[in-house]
Amino acid sequence: MRHDALIVGGSFAGLSAAMQLARARRSVCVVDAGAPRNRFAAASHGFFGQDGEPPLAMIAQARERLLAYPSVRFVSGHAVDAALDGAGGFVVSLEAGEPISASRLVLAFGVHDMLPEIAGLRERWGASVLHCPYCHGYEFGGRQLGVLYRGPLSLHQAQLIAEWGPTTLFLDGEEVPDDAESAALHARGIAIEPGRVLALEGGDTPRSLAGVRVVDGRLVPLDALYIVPRTRMSSPLAEQLGCAFDDGPFGPVIRTDALKQTTVAGVHAAGDAAQFMQNATLASADGVLAGVSLHRSLVFDQR
Ligand SMILES: Cc1cc2nc3c(=O)[nH]c(=O)nc-3n(C[C@H](O)[C@H](O)[C@H](O)COP(=O)(O)OP(=O)(O)OC[C@H]3O[C@@H](n4cnc5c(N)ncnc54)[C@H](O)[C@@H]3O)c2cc1C
Repeated sequence: MRHDALIVGGSFAGLSAAMQLARARRSVCVVDAGAPRNRFAAASHGFFGQDGEPPLAMIAQARERLLAYPSVRFVSGHAVDAALDGAGGFVVSLEAGEPISASRLVLAFGVHDMLPEIAGLRERWGASVLHCPYCHGYEFGGRQLGVLYRGPLSLHQAQLIAEWGPTTLFLDGEEVPDDAESAALHARGIAIEPGRVLALEGGDTPRSLAGVRVVDGRLVPLDALYIVPRTRMSSPLAEQLGCAFDDGPFGPVIRTDALKQTTVAGVHAAGDAAQFMQNATLASADGVLAGVSLHRSLVFDQR
């Protein structure tokens, strides 16, 4: 069977796109590998009406509501290959199971965070090692906060994080900042630790933090450490299809126009994989736009 749309990624963006298409009575298939970006966090913050809910529960509820529509099919699995089918549509192969055909695609597979290799960091990701203060800043308000230098954006991040609590910038041995940057950090009351960071340690619970061990042996007390993560696409599908990319602040993003159409006809993209500002609300809104725009293309752009 050839679906009207195949959506790769069934999280905030993909399920939102699918909902618009289902409500337009189109046949939609969602393929999802079940690993949303925020699965490391116990609670998701800031989403309209659902502040503080567990992210996996939010996604499960959205999927349940979507599957109430009879034209929707959901496949748990990993899409590994996407190509034109020679008849104006696409065929997507899965790691296991039959290939899936569709007239249009939505790429909503998100991004993967590439974390620095520092002892004790990875296991605290999403709990006491964080990237977004709007998502996970309030909970640490007024406590000891840190920013790990990963590049020029970290100087900006440190000045922002100071809004939530007393902040230390860990330069991790890098030769920054210059005089103007130092003055800006000083004006925000930010302390600077120049030495290399050896490890993250302690805390009352396995994923909490007591401090950062620096190269001279001291443990600098800290409740949360923020980083600017580098990201990569969660899947090579956009490259396989020949989509163009832009350089985003954290990594590559799939280039789309204002209606979420990529540079390859018939392929839309939405969510973290296709926008510079990334959070669950924006991913969901992006998915809605992609779904509506894709539906209109089915009506008005015969391929
Ligand atoms: C630690 C952490 C905490 C966060 N907390 C918040 C928060 O509190 N509030 C907030 O608004 N935002 C938060 N975010 C950001 C939020 O997670 C993302 O903006 C949001 O998940 C993006 O949604 P998405 O649908 O684009 O991608 P994702 O949610 O990452 O979903 C992509 C889906 O595609 C699937 N997939 C990937 N490749 C394939 C493939 N080849 N085949 C099939 N399926 C595939 C994945 O398994 C996944 O289910 C947080 C992010 C992180 C890292």
